Amino acid sequence: MQNELSTWPIGSFHEIKVKFNGAVRKDNSGLYETSYPDADGNVHFMAGTQMECCGARKMFPCFDEPEYKAYFDLKVHTKYPEYHAIFNTEQESVGPSPLGGDYYVTKFDRTMKMSTYILALVISDYDRSVVARSPETDTSVTILGPKVRLDKGEGDYALELAMDIIDGFSSFYGYNYADAFLPGRAKSDQVGLSDFLAGAMENWGLVTYQNFLIYIIPEEQFEYNVMSVATVFGHELQHQWTGNLITCTWWDEIWINEAFADIGGYLALKWAEPSWNLENEFIVNELFRALRFDDRTGSRPLINKQNNNGAKVENPAQIMGQFDLIAYQKGGSIVRMMIYCMGEDRWQLGMQDYLDANKYTNTDGEIYFKHMQSALDSYPAGDGWDLPYDHSGASPFNKTFDGWVRQMGYPVLRAQADQNLFLVSQSRYLQSGDNIDEPASSLEYKWTVPLPALNMDNEVVMNWMLSNETTVGVPKNLWFDPEAKIFAYYIIEDYQELKKQVNDIFLREEKAAIGLIPFFPKDFHNGVAKYLHSYWKTMVADMTYASQYFHILELTRIFSISSLADGVQRWPMWNTLSYVLNRIVGPNGPRGSFGQTTWVLLQRELSPMYSLVMLTVGRMTLKEQCEMSSIGLVSITKKVA
Ligand SMILES: [Zn+2]
Repeated sequence: MQNELSTWPIGSFHEIKVKFNGAVRKDNSGLYETSYPDADGNVHFMAGTQMECCGARKMFPCFDEPEYKAYFDLKVHTKYPEYHAIFNTEQESVGPSPLGGDYYVTKFDRTMKMSTYILALVISDYDRSVVARSPETDTSVTILGPKVRLDKGEGDYALELAMDIIDGFSSFYGYNYADAFLPGRAKSDQVGLSDFLAGAMENWGLVTYQNFLIYIIPEEQFEYNVMSVATVFGHELQHQWTGNLITCTWWDEIWINEAFADIGGYLALKWAEPSWNLENEFIVNELFRALRFDDRTGSRPLINKQNNNGAKVENPAQIMGQFDLIAYQKGGSIVRMMIYCMGEDRWQLGMQDYLDANKYTNTDGEIYFKHMQSALDSYPAGDGWDLPYDHSGASPFNKTFDGWVRQMGYPVLRAQADQNLFLVSQSRYLQSGDNIDEPASSLEYKWTVPLPALNMDNEVVMNWMLSNETTVGVPKNLWFDPEAKIFAYYIIEDYQELKKQVNDIFLREEKAAIGLIPFFPKDFHNGVAKYLHSYWKTMVADMTYASQYFHILELTRIFSISSLADGVQRWPMWNTLSYVLNRIVGPNGPRGSFGQTTWVLLQRELSPMYSLVMLTVGRMTLKEQCEMSSIGLVSITKKVA
């Protein structure tokens, strides 16, 4: 073999046949056995797959890395007439198998050019009757599942979601989902698996889910569960574009797949559930979670190639470690901040170019940045801004955002009033408060910080703090835009001035002072309520930092205990409060890091609130929690009706 190989000219093609025997596994990776019960409790066995990151090699020999994209032809021999096999592409033919007896052979369409980790095969006797064809994208969408579930209508909501989202993304990204398949043969199967290592998996044309994330009757479910199903469908179907059509080159930049899917989970609701407003949920579930995780020296950069304390991403365990809050939640939050700075229209056009230029290949941060820069150069700003650098050296997009993606952590900003200016300074925020230079960063833990502000006419103007500036002056006649802060991946330590401004707006509108308002109005997007809502979000953001306990003390004055109990109607607020208070005065709180006087003060001020919150949250049924969440059960009921 060695001799023969050495005579093959470089670039010549050869066919290699490999004989391989492998068992159907029991460990939920590669091709594995699973089962489900029918209406009479009989167990039906079946086989499913989970390939990411390194499972395909367990099913067949292959170059099992994302960069080795290939076309796949598959034939599957199955037993028993009631069993069928589904794959990434449509069945081309089903007929008697040369194995004889009860065996059938299914041949599938050749796949698109794709990575191995998104291959999928399911062999089952699942019902296949919940199906529809989208006229917009010419795609056949099927929800497969146990007959007992689908007969009850548990696949109908999933079908509706998948149809709306595939149509929506096809048009938003300017690339029709069906174009990846043979003409007229596009399909998207959604399948639940009882045994599953992930929550859901974006296999091209055959998305797999935990049962509770697909089989659902919304009017019988808690709102939070319905919301999870919708955002997970958005996430996995977004991957058909970012992840499948274009793919990370190596796992040290898995954010190239996951950050965009994180955004996609919410973006998809534009088409699937346009009446919902899930901005609140993004802030609590993505942004705050990322900030809480990224405030330590053991975090990592999104582009995990440098400034990472020498960490390696080589073996399967190291690779699986990359599927963390940095890739998903921080990635989503940073991309969201980029969208805010560029303007959504310009970002969308940039994404269309990025996808079209790189389809069926692999990309990384460099390539993404290049396309965003050319979008900035080519398209009108819309509701976005120009970036603060010129074209000398690295591109303006690169210089603006490299600090956010090529090093870990984020800044805390401090604003001080100085005559006609606010002097704003930045330094890295760490939960521990010290070792702020560790591990070493070539970018020295400085960031180019967008600082949107409101002028007297309520127009937003953009100020920037460049990464080489320690302090920047913002004219005092500009107000910090409270709405903008929720887009920013940083925290503001001293928000006294902001609070005063919001209070001024509030008083000017002849409303009661914030401290006296017992609850936040549901219709918070109109007029003054908009600012009030932003203020609430700002406060929650700052509350997440236990070491800044003085903010919490202030909070106790702003919300009396009784108003907390009666008035704050929103689950994200309770959720965050319980987290923060537990972190400070809960059983594992950082008692030792406070002086005795401070500790006594904290205990006195916070313990009653902590007890109340924990009791309230702990005793709340899921239904009650859901009733307090952002959407309101009413909207679901309305929609279903
Ligand atoms: Zn994902």
